Amino acid sequence: MTQLRVVLIKPSKYAVDGAVERFKKGFLPNATLYHIASLTPARIGDVPVTVHTVDEYVWQDLDYLRWLHHDPDVITLLALVGVQSHQFHRALDLAAYARHHGVRHCVIGGPHAMTCDTSMLQGRGVSFALAEAELIWQQILDDALAGELQPLYGTNQRWAEKLPGTVINPPSAAELARYTSPMLGLYPVRGCPYKCNFCSVIKIAGRQERSPDIESTLESLRRAKRGGVEMIIFVSDNFNKFPTVRALLQAMIDERLALPFFCQCDTQIVKDPELVELLGRAGCTEMFVGVESFNRKTLRTAGKHHNHPEQYAEIIRLCRQAAIRPHFSNIIGFPDDDEAEIQHHLDVLKSLRPTVASFFILTPIPGTEQYDDFRKAGRITERNLDRFDATCPTWAHSILSSRRLDDLLYHCYTSYYGFLLKTRGLSVEEQRQAVYYRCIAAQRMHPMAGGTDRLRVDTAADYAALRRAAYDIDLAPLPDSLSLSASDEALNRRIDWSVQRPLENVTS
Ligand code: SF4
Repeated sequence: MTQLRVVLIKPSKYAVDGAVERFKKGFLPNATLYHIASLTPARIGDVPVTVHTVDEYVWQDLDYLRWLHHDPDVITLLALVGVQSHQFHRALDLAAYARHHGVRHCVIGGPHAMTCDTSMLQGRGVSFALAEAELIWQQILDDALAGELQPLYGTNQRWAEKLPGTVINPPSAAELARYTSPMLGLYPVRGCPYKCNFCSVIKIAGRQERSPDIESTLESLRRAKRGGVEMIIFVSDNFNKFPTVRALLQAMIDERLALPFFCQCDTQIVKDPELVELLGRAGCTEMFVGVESFNRKTLRTAGKHHNHPEQYAEIIRLCRQAAIRPHFSNIIGFPDDDEAEIQHHLDVLKSLRPTVASFFILTPIPGTEQYDDFRKAGRITERNLDRFDATCPTWAHSILSSRRLDDLLYHCYTSYYGFLLKTRGLSVEEQRQAVYYRCIAAQRMHPMAGGTDRLRVDTAADYAALRRAAYDIDLAPLPDSLSLSASDEALNRRIDWSVQRPLENVTS
């Protein structure tokens, strides 16, 4: 009897030196891989289904490429999942590799295919998934089994109106060992009601907050605990806007799950001290908050009206009170930023002293409103999608040169963590992290790139001929953004404002 072999790969990206970015130990697990693996049935009719999961960032050798070779005893489906624009070339290359070695069914999904026009690459043997997996994954599996994938999936609707409760099966012990600690990413709520112009989340997941029942998340947590997971990463962008967040946290406390977790909250968490306290009691160890800038005018211009810099100190105080590490995410290189503004930002940040600070360069991510505006204005200078990862200059800033912006990015890291190391009261773990971030940034590598100890195994040059033969390109052209369908627009308009926590000044 034949069987269906599903190979799920989260592609890495090509670094500036051309190497595929790989690490000995990863910092963050990929949530999509295990989500889609858990959506895949063990059998389809009489046909057994086997699933392989590969997070390329933490795969230290090329063993997995053997699954991308034709095997007469199985039907192979290669799915490149969660592919962002800076990973798109790598995804194309892996699909070209598989096709070259006789695998007929390859599909690319994730943010890039969902939000960007791929028409010039269509009809070349690789399919594109334009919608959430819940809407199309079973059809893709059925089509692979029937012998032919469709060129496109999910053209009429990007988002599922309701999310079914999917229980996530934890990774194996061998897979967990690829990360700095045994971690699992979970995505219990999707979407964000805000409208920041640089944000891809609202294009990928919409503005309507959607979440499945909390029982499926709780069961995922129980299985994770039994499976040896020691840390949960809630990758949802606004955990505090999750309508049933209190019920979930209380259930975690009542069940004594004792699973430490990381979550992301928007700055309006400041208005909910009780929730911060509950998060702490439920096991939250670190809260990531997109503060972005201390300049209110900059924030308003970027559409981030709900961020009020005068409230940032209180977020830190609330976190510390609940034994949660505050992690402030900062963006440098907004259109009006100059050196003095960035230095001022650093000074204010040092006065607030969040335990963790990350820095990124403002990047017009393909598919976003800002990308469309910058492209129309002819401001995008970078032609290689690999560079659109928020760590590289990609557009013509009117005040700062690309080189200077690059310097300032690493200066922010070395200066902030150098300062932090001189302060009192850091735990041993915090000191170790600060030393690591400072050293990595001093070598002009981004500390949030994905892991420790970068490895050089294969490079873009190894796949260049395959890319050219499969798609007739050296680099994919910068894409147009895709418009939303009428049904997705309608879903966006149905934001349930009553369940949103304090949401003032959305349009002010
Ligand atoms: S608050 Fe965060 S997730 Fe929401 S639109 Fe703004 S940047 Fe995106």
